Amino acid sequence: MEEITALAKRRGFIFQSSEIYGGINGFWDYGPLGALLKRNVKNAWWRDTVELRDDVVAFDSSIVMHPSVWKASGHLDVFHDLMVDCKTCKHRFRLDHLKDRSKCPDCGSKDSFTEPRNFNLMMKTFVGPMEDTSAVTYLRPETAQGIFVNFKNVYQTARKRPPFGIAQIGKSFRNEITPGNFTFRVREFEQAELEYFVPDDGNDMAAFEQWVQRRKAWYAAYGIDAERLRFYELTDAERPHYAKAGIDVEYLFPWGWGELESIAHRGTYDLDAHMKLSGKDLRFFDEAAKRHYTPLLIESSAGMDRTALTFLVDAYERETSVDPNGKTVERTVLRFHSAIAPIQIAVFSLARNRADLVERATGIEAALRPHFRTQYDEGNIGQLYRRQDEIGTPFCVTIDHQTLDDASVTVRARDSMLQERVQAQQLEAYVRERL
Ligand code: ATP
Repeated sequence: MEEITALAKRRGFIFQSSEIYGGINGFWDYGPLGALLKRNVKNAWWRDTVELRDDVVAFDSSIVMHPSVWKASGHLDVFHDLMVDCKTCKHRFRLDHLKDRSKCPDCGSKDSFTEPRNFNLMMKTFVGPMEDTSAVTYLRPETAQGIFVNFKNVYQTARKRPPFGIAQIGKSFRNEITPGNFTFRVREFEQAELEYFVPDDGNDMAAFEQWVQRRKAWYAAYGIDAERLRFYELTDAERPHYAKAGIDVEYLFPWGWGELESIAHRGTYDLDAHMKLSGKDLRFFDEAAKRHYTPLLIESSAGMDRTALTFLVDAYERETSVDPNGKTVERTVLRFHSAIAPIQIAVFSLARNRADLVERATGIEAALRPHFRTQYDEGNIGQLYRRQDEIGTPFCVTIDHQTLDDASVTVRARDSMLQERVQAQQLEAYVRERL
């Protein structure tokens, strides 16, 4: 994990937030490559969950909502973690994260913990010019509630009837007691949530199962190692009382299994809660049967920062191999799926000081740019390959002296390290086929 963290910083994937002021715990910034990585992960989710489905519509709700939303959802009353402080070193811990409840993991003191106290994870802020209790609001701890309170607006305007889904990707905030494991547990993060509403006609468990399979296929399609991914079925005791079924999608990180996503059958719990507090009828009216009913809800909630981290960890490899020339090479390579890789094709000029080569190379890069995520670079070819391997670029294209004679370029594949001579004219088709 240390190696991956170091690479992420060195190559511009992820930086500590506010680093020049000493950082702020639980917040991270995505650098040029990290921003691309996360965007690609979100696009891959959006493509599969929204664009390819005629039964899912897009949504984007505000981060700050009426405080009653959080009363109804239960977040004001029960969105707590139990925390304890070590009286000796003053460090704070989440009670359920402590392996040994009598010994401080930081300073080793025995029986130095305070009594456990409830700690609400919602971040508070004020709306408007008065900073009194009537102005208190919260940064949302999940995006889902924005969908629930708009359920009626959406199904009426989008002219949808259950089964149908509403999806959104957006920021959420939780004042985690102990952020850590790089970007795994943070205080500001992005969630991709799908709320899929189904009729109460007995097919609800089938719909739940279909989404589980769809999400399984998604991780597989983007190459996440099946051995390091598990769909853990929650027991009755682990699920909230209202949930009929629940699955945690977990990845085996260097520190152990960690949750990426939760898929749950939440029944009518969420709509019921908002109907009760708001007094508004959010039921669906079935024209054919002439009756109102509250749809059942299947939810898939995935953390995009955790998923991006998973792609990074899963792609990371330190490899020793023999290159096509029989030389033993050691390299660090990120084996990203081509849709996830921040850069798909790097184009190099072999010599920095040759205007004709540079011009040719930048021209080729410009021609590829509308079709792929590209980058131009120049200099020592060994170093250029090393750098692109480290950021997971599937193909490198080199323009050399021969290019000026016969318009051919060298294409080098990240995974096999094999090189092929390809006509510049054919480059786009060649790469497209292999990506
Ligand atoms: P955990 O048990 O790890 O605190 P959770 O069960 O509270 O997570 P959910 O409320 O189910 O998480 O949120 C859905 C998803 O949102 C999680 O699977 C995760 O990917 C993401 N998520 C939740 N909390 C965080 C966080 N602090 N940092 C990054 N991602 C988070």
